Amino acid sequence: MNISFDLDSTLIPNGKEFEIEKRSGIAKLFGIEEIRKGSSELISDLQKDGHKIHIYTTSFRTKRKIRWTLKYYGIKVDRIVNQTENERTLKSLNINSSKFPLAFDFDIHIDDSKGVGIEAERLNFKAIIVEQSDKSWVEKIKKEIKNIG
Ligand SMILES: [Mg+2]
Repeated sequence: MNISFDLDSTLIPNGKEFEIEKRSGIAKLFGIEEIRKGSSELISDLQKDGHKIHIYTTSFRTKRKIRWTLKYYGIKVDRIVNQTENERTLKSLNINSSKFPLAFDFDIHIDDSKGVGIEAERLNFKAIIVEQSDKSWVEKIKKEIKNIG
């Protein structure tokens, strides 16, 4: 399946909401962002299971910057949709929603936002909503993907 991940407060912390992977001082200097503990392993496990992993964010970070950060942690994703592309695409489809993963052929979207959960019900797309404080977020995601698939 095509699985997309949100960035802010899902994979990348906004503050101190979850534990993070180790990052060197040099990496920080080069603009590598912090990432949630377990992200690399989760994404690589899903890829080993045959899923395609994408990033779907409403942030205006450039795709290059996102790839740069992910690469540092050994994460390779297929497609990155940032807010520039999201806005343009949803507008052209006349969809009034912050996110609509189906517009990009994403089968399941993973996000921390309850608002996205409500949009998922309204627009009939599949979303897994993960609490920022959920320490067993990796297991939750794996389990729900199995249930959906
Ligand atoms: Mg978020």
